[in-house]
Amino acid sequence: MNDYTCKRCGNLLLNGQKNYCTKCMEKNKVDLKIIREYLEKNKNATLMEISIATGISVKIINNLISNNSIEIVKDPYKL
Ligand SMILES: [Zn+2]
Repeated sequence: MNDYTCKRCGNLLLNGQKNYCTKCMEKNKVDLKIIREYLEKNKNATLMEISIATGISVKIINNLISNNSIEIVKDPYKL
């Protein structure tokens, strides 16, 4: 077991890469932009709502927000 695999696709990382491979870094940027835009219009959206609306999995959103300090409501039962 090691920490040198991509958190998103599981591919082995090259020297100097952290957490994500180059391809997934690009995907993360796109996903983050989509999530941010959605949150601007839906300030009280929950993780589940964001996931359903954007088509991005909850796991990926979680990874992205933990690395990028996006604040969202985490209670999935809140209206
Ligand atoms: Zn990857």
